[in-house]
Amino acid sequence: MTTIIDGKALGQKIRSNIAGEVTLLKEKLGRKPGLSVVLVGDDAASQVYVNMKEKACIEAGFNSSIYRLGSNTTTDELLNLIDDLNKNDNIDGILVQLPLPEQIDEKKVLYKIDPSKDVDGFHPVNVGLLNIGEDTLFPCTPYGVMKIFEEYNIELSGKNAVVIGRSNIVGKPMAALLLKANATVTICHSRTKDIPALCRNADIIVAAVGIPKFVTADFVKDGAVVIDVGINRLEGKLVGDVDYDGIFDKCSYITPVPGGVGPMTIAMLMYNTLKSFKVRNNLL
Ligand code: NAP
Repeated sequence: MTTIIDGKALGQKIRSNIAGEVTLLKEKLGRKPGLSVVLVGDDAASQVYVNMKEKACIEAGFNSSIYRLGSNTTTDELLNLIDDLNKNDNIDGILVQLPLPEQIDEKKVLYKIDPSKDVDGFHPVNVGLLNIGEDTLFPCTPYGVMKIFEEYNIELSGKNAVVIGRSNIVGKPMAALLLKANATVTICHSRTKDIPALCRNADIIVAAVGIPKFVTADFVKDGAVVIDVGINRLEGKLVGDVDYDGIFDKCSYITPVPGGVGPMTIAMLMYNTLKSFKVRNNLL
């Protein structure tokens, strides 16, 4: 039998727990967690994501400040804003919405964020800590996948996991988190030979490729857990990176798109902001 993973319900549960904790912490400390989100330019998808993040902050009881900057913003202007946010004690998390316009030096901007406020987990200090197996702020999407494994009691230790995709925001941190949880991890990318054969040996497949229906039935061994991170638009519909209907019967667990990994990303952003707040208030 195949279990459909309900990321919407789990994401909502995490967000409700956070809201409850924030109410108590506010009474105790007289301050609530603060998240600043910086959006540069007028990318339509980014605007939707930022609005969703703002709504999630309000629901969680956080202070949120959204900086909407014009598309002609310079790298220096953005660095100055981040400097101010780094110094502001009421801000626990800083997120710069990607992609940034071309004229902006993305690396310089991301590396400027104080690692203790880097709720996206993209700063090299946090990437390094994750890769040496330490606890730190982990990137939200792969961390959300780890919460799914935890919630559904999916055993990782000693299991063969294949991650398809090696981006800095999904594939690589996903592989590092699985390795930290004692899985045996294979990372596939555009130069990998015979991905279906590698996947057929996998107990767990995580697809983060950005190609609709990339993972088909011949990739999946009976009983495998398949996590679909992909979000693609196909004929006006949202679809993932796996052929959901084609592989459904072979899987023990599967995430739908939408309603699987997607809702976990925002939940984990709230989780990371609360974590940063607690660390900065010596509560962790
Ligand atoms: P990305 O930066 O474009 O990376 C895609 C990865 O897939 C790359 O490592 C690339 O390999 C690999 N790849 C591309 N074509 C391939 C092929 N034919 N065979 C094997 N590997 C191939 O994308 P991303 O940011 O990681 O995102 C991946 C997907 O997840 C997208 O659909 C995105 O929209 C979605 N996403 C969802 C969430 C969420 O909240 N659910 C969050 C982030 C991203 P190379 O490195 O060799 O080029």
